[in-house]
Amino acid sequence: MNRANPKAVLESIGLSDEPGGSGEVLESINPATGAPQGGIRAVTRDEYDARMAAALKRFDEWRMRPAPKRSDLVRRLGERLREHKDALGELVSLETGKIRAEGLGEVQEMIDICEFAVGLSRQLHGLTIASERPRHRLMEQWHPLGAVGIVTAFNFPVAVWSWNAALAAVCGDVSIWKPSPLTPLSSAAVQAICDRVAREHGAEGVFSLVPGGAHVGEWMCDDRRVPLLSFTGSTAVGRQVSSRVAARLGRSILELGGNNGVIVLDDADVDLAVRAITFGAVGTAGQRCTSTRRLFVQRGVARTLVDRLATAYRTVRIGDPLDPGVLMGPLITRAAVDRFTAAVAAVRAQGGKVFQGGRALDGPGNFVEPTIVLAPAHGAFPIAWEETFAPILYVFEIADLEEALRAHNAVAQGLSSAIFTDSMRAAEQFLSACGSDCGIANVNAGTSGAEIGGAFGGEKDTGGGRESGSDAWKAYMRRQTSTVNWGRELPLAQGIDFL
Ligand code: NAD
Repeated sequence: MNRANPKAVLESIGLSDEPGGSGEVLESINPATGAPQGGIRAVTRDEYDARMAAALKRFDEWRMRPAPKRSDLVRRLGERLREHKDALGELVSLETGKIRAEGLGEVQEMIDICEFAVGLSRQLHGLTIASERPRHRLMEQWHPLGAVGIVTAFNFPVAVWSWNAALAAVCGDVSIWKPSPLTPLSSAAVQAICDRVAREHGAEGVFSLVPGGAHVGEWMCDDRRVPLLSFTGSTAVGRQVSSRVAARLGRSILELGGNNGVIVLDDADVDLAVRAITFGAVGTAGQRCTSTRRLFVQRGVARTLVDRLATAYRTVRIGDPLDPGVLMGPLITRAAVDRFTAAVAAVRAQGGKVFQGGRALDGPGNFVEPTIVLAPAHGAFPIAWEETFAPILYVFEIADLEEALRAHNAVAQGLSSAIFTDSMRAAEQFLSACGSDCGIANVNAGTSGAEIGGAFGGEKDTGGGRESGSDAWKAYMRRQTSTVNWGRELPLAQGIDFL
């Protein structure tokens, strides 16, 4: 199967000192073969505390470096990531089962966010506000927060870290990263690059890694030294994280599960829709938070669209994600295959019809078929209301946009959405206040594959967090409102007379 060897990839990156701890081994398993491919050790509680203390010591100095100077480190990190893009991308593929183009795309996202953060370092601006008092200046400024905890999911093992860490670094924060225990080598490789870059800039401790399982994430939830915890993962775990962090009045950024829908109206460009839906539903084997899971198609175009999707699905080569020509790799674990199989059984039990695919493939590796399901009414099909992290597309026939929007917005999640139509009115309605209720809403572009320039995140059970572009940086800083009196009087606000 895979010709690439993670050890060689790690050596090419220059990983000499293992950035893990001395706790239990976090083993990396290749999902395409089921074979172990190395691992790192988790941190113990003492090691966690030591890394946190070192990070906070660095914070005292780092927060006083001017932001454009802080960006020198991030610029260099981006350059190093570019140098190692092929190796890192391959490693991401080996651990997650993403095809090579997607592994490389993930590293490109890291490079992009570094570049974004470098520009941002000169734009961390506040406001000057008109004061009601004479000879007074009222203003707002933004200061670093401290140690930002970052907990990441398996499916974007490195990019999501970078969305947080690159912004946090230019904002003057230090970051402490607990990666998914399913992708230990990708995080170790990135940390090795960070360590080298930090040493070059006399900034050791700006980026720290604390590998481990759920319990390390729980330490971060309860740790008052972490004013902000950025959590990416399932809604079930995010709910626990959110309440634990809130119990100590900490802040969290929650990037949780999605259940993303595409609406296709009769007047849509079907070629575009087929390509976007196939990429959205089959890409990354349906394991993106933004994967397309529900399709609402208007009656006039339903048959054509579903037939064309099935034809496209049949051309998708499944196999070793590093083989050229393969478009779909494996699911992450055997348990994920079991969840796929259980969902297909639920489809049948709830009155759905498997139109294409539907089977788990014989091992080795966690392969399944990309699957299209013809669903009954949305309200009568509860399996479609859940996020099954697998390439299953549920197709609902709808009469019109109103019916599609009602069903689309009925689920608990609110991450990404799209409409395919040539009608300006329909597109604008979809984007309006009575349209899609998601954090991301696209017209004639699919649900997955967001650019880093926009703020990324979703509503409702997706958690409400925003990361990456636009003004997402504000979450990594604390806002201070300041009044400066440059006169010789002491007028009080609201005209209060006192003394
Ligand atoms: P998961 O919830 O199982 O794990 C995510 C992370 O949380 C891991 O690092 C895990 O070790 C840690 N964790 C587990 N229990 C914890 C606890 N009690 N306290 C603190 N940390 C804990 O998710 P996963 O299976 O790795 O990832 C898939 C899920 O992530 C999907 O639901 C997907 O939609 C979601 N996701 C969301 C986004 C987004 O931006 N909205 C991006 C990627 C993935």
